[in-house]
Amino acid sequence: MKSPRPSEEISRASELTKLVRFADALCRERGLSFTPLRREVYELVCRHDTPVGAYELLDELKVHRHNAAPVTVYRSLDFLVGTGLVHRISALNAYTACHRHAPGHGGLLLVCGECSNVIELEDQRLEQRISQTAADVKFQTSTDLVEVRGLCEECRARPTD
Ligand SMILES: [Zn+2]
Ligand SMILES: [Zn+2]
Repeated sequence: MKSPRPSEEISRASELTKLVRFADALCRERGLSFTPLRREVYELVCRHDTPVGAYELLDELKVHRHNAAPVTVYRSLDFLVGTGLVHRISALNAYTACHRHAPGHGGLLLVCGECSNVIELEDQRLEQRISQTAADVKFQTSTDLVEVRGLCEECRARPTD
C-alpha cells in the first residue's frame, strides 16, 4: 500500500482537528456532553474517506477499549447522527462524517452503487419542499438527508466489459 505523502498526512490531521473542534463547540453550544467515547467514535468515522460500518468501527474502537460492545458503538453513533455531525447512509448501512455543512443543513447524499462513494450536497430548499409536500398528507418527515443512488463520475468513466 502506498503511504500518503507527509503533506497529505499533515492536512488530514489538521482537517481532523478542525472537525473535532467544531463538534466540541457544537455540543457545548447545545449543552450536550461530548464524552471521550463519543469523541473517539467520531474521530474514527472522520478518519474514513468512505462510509464505514458500525462493526468496522467497533473493531477499531477495541484497539483502545478492549471491552467495547456493539451497543457502545451504536449509542455513540445515534448521538452523533442526532447532532448532525455524522450521516447514516441507509442504502449502505454505514456512516460518514458531515464535512462541510452546518448541522441540519438538508440536502442530498449521492451514493455510488459501484464504489460506495458518497457525495454530500447541501440544499435547504429541497428539504423544505419535501417536508411541505409531506405535510399536505399530514406526514412529518425526519431530518435525514435524501439518498439518491447512481454512478459516480469515476465509475462512469471506467470501461465496462
Ligand atoms: Zn452533512
Ligand atoms: Zn463510484
